[in-house]
Amino acid sequence: MLDDMFDYMQHIRERPVWQPVPEGIRQRYHESLPREGVALEEIHQRFLHEVMPYSAGNAHPGFMGWVQGGGTPVGMLAELLAAGLNANLGGRDQMPVEVEKQMTRWMQELFQFPDSASGLFVTGTSIANFIAVLIARAKALGLASRKTGIASNPQRLVAYASVGAHACVSQAIDMAGIGTDALRLIPVNENFEMDLDCLRQAIQADRLAGMTPFMIAGTAGTVDVGAIDNLSALADFAESEELWFHIDGAFGALAMLAKDIAPRLKGIERADSIAFDFHKWLQVPYDAGYILVRDGDAHFDTFAISTSYLKRETRGIAAGTKWPCDFGPDLSRGFRALKAWFTIQVYGTERLGKMISHTCEVARYLQRQIEGNPRLELLAPVNLNIVCFRYLHENQTQLDDLNRDIVFELHESGLAAPSTTRVHGHLAIRAAIVNHRTGKHEIDRMLRAVIQFGDRLSVDISANPA
Ligand SMILES: *Cc1c(COP(=O)(O)O)cnc(C)c1O
Repeated sequence: MLDDMFDYMQHIRERPVWQPVPEGIRQRYHESLPREGVALEEIHQRFLHEVMPYSAGNAHPGFMGWVQGGGTPVGMLAELLAAGLNANLGGRDQMPVEVEKQMTRWMQELFQFPDSASGLFVTGTSIANFIAVLIARAKALGLASRKTGIASNPQRLVAYASVGAHACVSQAIDMAGIGTDALRLIPVNENFEMDLDCLRQAIQADRLAGMTPFMIAGTAGTVDVGAIDNLSALADFAESEELWFHIDGAFGALAMLAKDIAPRLKGIERADSIAFDFHKWLQVPYDAGYILVRDGDAHFDTFAISTSYLKRETRGIAAGTKWPCDFGPDLSRGFRALKAWFTIQVYGTERLGKMISHTCEVARYLQRQIEGNPRLELLAPVNLNIVCFRYLHENQTQLDDLNRDIVFELHESGLAAPSTTRVHGHLAIRAAIVNHRTGKHEIDRMLRAVIQFGDRLSVDISANPA
């Protein structure tokens, strides 16, 4: 099985990026609950033939959709070790918890947070953002709100993020019971960064209307175009307005490891909390999200519960005062920290930083190819590793459909897998270079296919104008 997976990674270039799931295979997965065991080898064969060829393809170098990491052999082996150990990281006196704590110390160091900062592995940035909102909420309303609830929200809390913020920020506000009406989506400037004048006006207007601003959520690397909000300016605002300053750095925060990008994240070290993913730019296998919180006590106070069966002792397995389960909603927790710990140590931060810089270089190469081709149009500035563009055709009214169809064709051909988004109202082909395996070869191959499918589809358009 190990050999199969090493072969899979080694020869992944020879495979299609993605292929549709055959109906016959999908149907087999409606079989009822098995009563008798089946030989491991038989189930393994089913995995090889029915599952492995039909994943979304984010390990493949031609995968450029959304923002997804590619994984590494080191991460895979660490997963195997973690599964074998089957540690439960809810708490207790054990080295796996110490590994997670070392990760926290490393993140404190990377983001220049104090020793009193807390951190926790979670599934992803969606949950990390949610945890941050809950801490900010408890801070704004007082810890008594954990008991009394916020049902009627008499203080009328309001939060701020840019229109480019990920949808999970709004979802976090919803799940926190604050209601998405209370999230102000601030317009962006020409660089897709939160417009600071609009932010100032929105906060003023809300205060005048008797609302209680409590949080600014900046983004370090927006999912659409890779924009980084002016984090220093947001930190100033949050400080003078006494608001919680959260940063959604899902993929961008770990660019702190890249020497050429780190200066652009200036201000991140002043955040109250940072949410990010090891499973994106750091290539740690799914899932491995993380929340780092400056005020570790506020974090603890938001989640800790006292239950007799989870009582802390002075000796034995139940020793220790603060356990990971005191910092989030999960009691049972897997050993996610191990794969991040292995990745950082085996590759080293220098090499990981260079890998991140390299993906941005590949994106700039794609940008140059687009700018040098009159049949293609760049739709947004290339800030980091995300390139939004489209194929041009004289029939302007059908450009959105045409470009969407090009992306369908790309996926179904298995040649490349960008995704789509909307930029300035236009449908854009969006290539996010996150996978460490992606290079110029994949870019050239994707662009050749874009032109080829574009030409073929536009013949249909010219023949049947709408
Ligand atoms: C991916 C992403 C998220 C969501 O993270 P998950 O790990 O998928 O939960 C949030 N914000 C941004 C900017 C992202 O890129």
